[in-house]
Amino acid sequence: MKKSIVMLGAPGAGKGTQAKLMSEKYGIPHISTGDMLREAVKEGTELGLKAKEIMERGELVPDDLINAIVKERLARPDCEKGYILDGYPRTKAQAEFLDSVDGVNFVIFIHVPEELIVKRLVLRRTCPNCGAMYHLEFNPPKRDNLCDKCGTPLIQRDDDTEDVVKNRLAVYNEKTAVLLDYYRNRGILYKIDGNRPIKDVLQSIVQVVGE
Ligand code: AMP
Repeated sequence: MKKSIVMLGAPGAGKGTQAKLMSEKYGIPHISTGDMLREAVKEGTELGLKAKEIMERGELVPDDLINAIVKERLARPDCEKGYILDGYPRTKAQAEFLDSVDGVNFVIFIHVPEELIVKRLVLRRTCPNCGAMYHLEFNPPKRDNLCDKCGTPLIQRDDDTEDVVKNRLAVYNEKTAVLLDYYRNRGILYKIDGNRPIKDVLQSIVQVVGE
C-alpha cells in the first residue's frame, strides 16, 4: 500500500527528526515545505524573495504559493510509493487542496506540551549543509557545534529565537490545530507522545504505519 503520510504537531514537536528517520526506514521521500522555502530564500528565487520576511516573523506563507510547490513535488516519480509531508498542510485550505491532489492515509500527530516547546526550539541547532538537527541538551553533536554527519558548523535558525517561536506557536494554535479535528473525523489521526527519546517515538510511529 502506498504510504502517504502527514506529520502534524506544533513547531519543535519533532516532526522533522522523525520524518528523516521514517524516510530512511521506508525508502520514501521526506518533503519539508520549510526546507524547500529556506532553500528558495538561500538561492534568492522569486518564491524565496516573497517568503523571506514572512518566515522571519514566523507567519505563514500564502496558501497558493505553498500549494503550487507541493503539487509539483508530489508529481515527481519518487513519490509513487509514498511520501512524508512535514510542515504541510498548515491550514484547512491547504488540507483541502492536498485532498484534491492525493489521498492521505496516515496523519501522525506528535504531541509535546506547549510549555516544553520554547525550550526545545531555542536550544535547537541545525546543519545548514545536510539539514541534520540537534538539541544542545537532549541530542547534542559529538563535537562541539559541528555536524556529526558532515562536520559543518551548526547554526541556529533565524526563526528559532524566543520571540519568533512564541509567534509560531500562536500561528499554530490559530491556523493549524484545526487540522487535528479535520483528520480525526476521518479516522486517520494517530496521536503519539513526543516527549520521549527519539527512538521510542519512532517505535510508536512504526507500530502505526507498519514495518
Ligand atoms: P518549518 O521549517 O516547517 O518550521 O517552516 C518554517 C517557516 O516556513 C514557517 O514558519 C512558515 O513561515 C513557512 N512555511 C513552511 N511550511 C509552510 C506551509 N505549509 N504554509 C505556510 N507557510 C509555511
